[in-house]
Amino acid sequence: MRTLYDNGQVYTGKLPLAEAFVVENGRFLAVGNREEVLNYVDNATEKVELGGKFVCAGFNDSHMHLLNYGYTLSMADLSRHTSSLREMLEYLRNFDEERHEHPGSGEKAERQNHPEYQGNQKNHKNQENHEIQGNEESQKNQKNQENQNLQWLLGRGWNQDYFADERRFPTRKDLDTVSKTRPVCVIRACGHCCAVNSRALELMGITADTPQPEGGYFELGPDGAPNGVFRENAVEYVYRCIPAPSLEQLKEMMRRAIRKLNAYGVTSVQTDDFLTLPVPYRQVIRAFQQLEQEGGLTVRVYEQAQFPSVEDLREFLDDGWKPGGGSQWFRIGPLKIVADGSLGSRTAYLSRPYEDEPSAQGMMLYSREQLEQLLAKAASQGMQTAVHAIGDGTLDVLLDLYEQLAQGQTKRRDGIVHCQITHPRQLERMARLGLCAYVQPIFLDYDQRIVEQRVGRELASSSYAFHTMKEKGIHVAAGSDCPVEAPDVLAGIQCAVTRKTLDGSWGPYCPGEVMSVQEALDAYTIEGAYASFEETVKGKIQAGMLADFVVLGENPFEVPASRLHRIPVLDVYVGGRRVGGKA
Ligand SMILES: [Zn+2]
Repeated sequence: MRTLYDNGQVYTGKLPLAEAFVVENGRFLAVGNREEVLNYVDNATEKVELGGKFVCAGFNDSHMHLLNYGYTLSMADLSRHTSSLREMLEYLRNFDEERHEHPGSGEKAERQNHPEYQGNQKNHKNQENHEIQGNEESQKNQKNQENQNLQWLLGRGWNQDYFADERRFPTRKDLDTVSKTRPVCVIRACGHCCAVNSRALELMGITADTPQPEGGYFELGPDGAPNGVFRENAVEYVYRCIPAPSLEQLKEMMRRAIRKLNAYGVTSVQTDDFLTLPVPYRQVIRAFQQLEQEGGLTVRVYEQAQFPSVEDLREFLDDGWKPGGGSQWFRIGPLKIVADGSLGSRTAYLSRPYEDEPSAQGMMLYSREQLEQLLAKAASQGMQTAVHAIGDGTLDVLLDLYEQLAQGQTKRRDGIVHCQITHPRQLERMARLGLCAYVQPIFLDYDQRIVEQRVGRELASSSYAFHTMKEKGIHVAAGSDCPVEAPDVLAGIQCAVTRKTLDGSWGPYCPGEVMSVQEALDAYTIEGAYASFEETVKGKIQAGMLADFVVLGENPFEVPASRLHRIPVLDVYVGGRRVGGKA
């Protein structure tokens, strides 16, 4: 069936804007001014009147964590309760009570499919069924009570820099005021650190004698005992103890994330999901594939396959998974490697000590040899790589390794995820090596408040250098690192274009690095497609390409830059099918 979308302002990937386009069988058939396009229209063609509205290709989030987003949507959202440590704890206490006392009300419905919540329902039911209790029954109930106590209370999104009362990480003592009987875990907004209560520590069996992991650590308090804070690789100690979700629960988390992504106009994601939850990667792939078969995968997935060791990667490849293989909806993407930490928690590895904590320089999570092996293994299998690097120290190491590997291989489109703290010479090397930059313009909203404190004025003045990257010829693909930030593309575009915080109260930070509206739009569409080798398949409104597109309430080329993030996403189409937008 053919559909004509008429009387729009259509951004095709170049200017000037076109007026209309035709979609057939999930692809664009024609685009241009009205006269050109009307050649493709006959009596049977359906017509959609765009009424002068702006249309562009569907957004491509170049780096995020889809499964983790769905998981996070089922936790206590601390990002909205992080103005003080006290507020956060109070919210958690209420979240807990609310859940147990009013399981039917508004926000609750959202959470009904959460593994924890289902467990609670089951327990309630058991209790109802066994009102007449014999001795055996009361024992059962006691067991149920114990199980309930084992169900973890999870929250995510705090940031101590926003705490007005005490700018420090929460500890087990703080979280013991939320619950002494249930394990509690609160994850920092960056996902690289978390804090747990005493009950959780007890369940995990972590004591002062537990050996510290490589590439991370848990903190010891003044009394010599663990204080509940886990950093970098040590967070795995915690995540390992949280009960694993079922296949159906995984799919439900994905559905929840996909609904939100579509609502933001996102039609493609490059997403890192294999290490999110304590389930084998096969289970994650199965969940995506089942959703695809059920027609529920309405965002195209390019999996940034994270494997922490060469052995894990080998097992994956031996299992028969082919890099680049899959369908139009789910494909295996690059090997994803996390090489350092975050700026907020001072774990990104810098070439110099942190300005505001001279004893810290951050840390790399792998040795140079380990990274070399991983990159070489991927290269030998024709697998693209995408490496998380926030500090310039890490970037130096990676550039050396990629230079070593580059002999004769320039078409691999490897890339640096985040690529935040940089200096111009590094960007030149990146361009020479053909490395993509997977950047998150929305990070400017928070990071510009801390970047100079953390890395000093000089390094700050050449960082988040999106314009310079483009100028040097680097492919800059934008994303959100969701759930670190919401996958709100228009907010990201605003930050890229203004270099200010969204509320305008800070900035512009390095105003020379602003992107034009067109560059920013391209970074969320065309460049994302380039990063997954799909620049001839999607990312533009062009005949032959997949009909993934969004209809916006206003034209981003015309609204004042400070209002870009307020532009509503009206309609979202994937493969010509409407999947989201305002009712
Ligand atoms: Zn990430």
